[in-house]
Amino acid sequence: MNLILLGPPGAGKGTQASRLTEARNVIQLSTGDMLRDVVETHSTLGARTKAIMDAGGLVSDDIVIDIVSDRLDKLDCKNGFILDGFPRTVSQAQALDSLLESKCLALTAVIEILVDEEVLIKRIEKRALEMLSAGKKVRKDDNPSSFEKRLMAYRSQTLPLSGYYSKLGLLKTVDGMAGIESVSAQIDRILDQET
Ligand code: AMP
Repeated sequence: MNLILLGPPGAGKGTQASRLTEARNVIQLSTGDMLRDVVETHSTLGARTKAIMDAGGLVSDDIVIDIVSDRLDKLDCKNGFILDGFPRTVSQAQALDSLLESKCLALTAVIEILVDEEVLIKRIEKRALEMLSAGKKVRKDDNPSSFEKRLMAYRSQTLPLSGYYSKLGLLKTVDGMAGIESVSAQIDRILDQET
């Protein structure tokens, strides 16, 4: 099972992806996590990546595509993977198509989690407060101005992917306004039909 989870920041892609890794024995590939690892290297690339991420912008396609390509070659992807946060632009989606073809892999489905923007903003505020009260570090990009920029990037660059995957007959949508359990159940129903 090779899956893409699409949806705006705060839609619950990470939550659903990590649940699926346990339930379906597949790997979660979060480009956000991979890029946060790059930042931790404290290299020049790390510093540049950090500045873009903190401001809520998108890291360049070339960098992200190279990271994903290398990651897909690792043995643990052979059972299947869930892409969380990738692709985020049409050119990333096109590059992914070529990558998968060259590696003799195919997508099972693309699941888009639909959530209204007002709800997203409230969820991000809640996530920041929960982190604070748990004494954990709040994500640098979970502040109102970076989050607005992430939403803008989503609207202009990522939303066109729904049409892209719909044309390929791969797109399925779930109602992300419902609770976590209900979203999980909707995703399970789709996967049970597709696999
Ligand atoms: P996420 O953890 O998915 O919310 O991603 C956090 C940040 O990492 C985003 O706001 C972007 O700056 C960067 N990022 C993650 N995935 C991508 C991607 N596929 N393309 C470009 N930038 C990305």
